[in-house]
Amino acid sequence: MILLNPGPVNLSPGVRAALSLPDLCHREPEFAELQACIRAGLLEAYGLSHQRWAAVLLTGSGTAAVEAMITSLVPKTGYLLVIDNGVYGERMSRIAQLHNIEYYALRYAWGDGARTAEVAAFLDKQPKVSHVALVHHETTTGRLNKLGEIGKLCAARGIGVLLDAVSSFGAEQIDFEGCAIVGCAATANKCLHGVPGVSFVVAQREKLNAPNCTPRTLYLDLAAYCREQDQGGTPFTQSVQAFYALAAALDEFKEQGGLAQRQERYRQLSQQLRAGLSQRGLHALLKEDECSVVLSAFRLPKGLGYEQLHDRLKERGFVIYAGQGRFAREIFRISTMGEITRDDIERLLDAIGEIVRIPN
Ligand SMILES: *Cc1c(COP(=O)(O)O)cnc(C)c1O
Repeated sequence: MILLNPGPVNLSPGVRAALSLPDLCHREPEFAELQACIRAGLLEAYGLSHQRWAAVLLTGSGTAAVEAMITSLVPKTGYLLVIDNGVYGERMSRIAQLHNIEYYALRYAWGDGARTAEVAAFLDKQPKVSHVALVHHETTTGRLNKLGEIGKLCAARGIGVLLDAVSSFGAEQIDFEGCAIVGCAATANKCLHGVPGVSFVVAQREKLNAPNCTPRTLYLDLAAYCREQDQGGTPFTQSVQAFYALAAALDEFKEQGGLAQRQERYRQLSQQLRAGLSQRGLHALLKEDECSVVLSAFRLPKGLGYEQLHDRLKERGFVIYAGQGRFAREIFRISTMGEITRDDIERLLDAIGEIVRIPN
């Protein structure tokens, strides 16, 4: 089955093989070595220094990392501005609300981008904002939010950025220093091509140890994870097999040319897909330059429901992804993360062409 959903992804043979490496106790030096290797690989992916940054590993899905980031990096006296233009922006507001973090959500219609001038105006009007929470690639629509512009606004005002890069880490550029990033949450099983079960936050060390940042939860306390991981330990049992898989996935990421090459590979697949679907009369929701290279949303053709398209493609070996909320009846989404080739996309285009020609 070819998975065109935004994670979990089709695995490479190497990553799959890593899942059956020898059993390992998480209190033994072999585990410490595995953990250190992953942490170094994650920083290396973006050329970040170990002195200033820490990759903190959690056992949990991407949402665990996002919740850990927000609860561990916004101090008790902090105030969060959430930029919300989709499901994942909304989720960050929900996290802030549940943990009694003072926040305000600047909401945009799904599909729209945040307007930088409005963000600037809000920040100037509300000097109490200490952090901005932003989704880098809003997977709801495929939109790549303007991290560069918003990050610069924050940097100029001494405001920290908390980035949900769950569906962009490994595939899109992130200027950590220029964008005032203090925390960046992501996961193993999207653009890095590992398996579900490990997620992580790349955080500024100095901010993790800030004196006014006391933990809000036991399990998601990043500072505690970081302290123990720096010593080769872990506060709780980690998903050892998922760690093995992530280490193998990071080796492949590096061998294949790292971030630049992964971005280029996704870009080519995305262009192939957008051009091919357009030829078959199916149009993208957003323009290419508004979109991540990772995923595009397409309008459903008239007279063909999502379920029908999904089921007919599944019969042919492809899993596509539905729209959410008000988009459920309007769009379908295709991600090209994972072991997907140009041939797979060609066969997908043929299959969609066939289904669209003879809808019943
Ligand atoms: C996938 C995703 C998440 C987290 O999803 P999980 O199901 O918890 O792994 C968070 N943010 C974005 C932008 C995502 O695409």
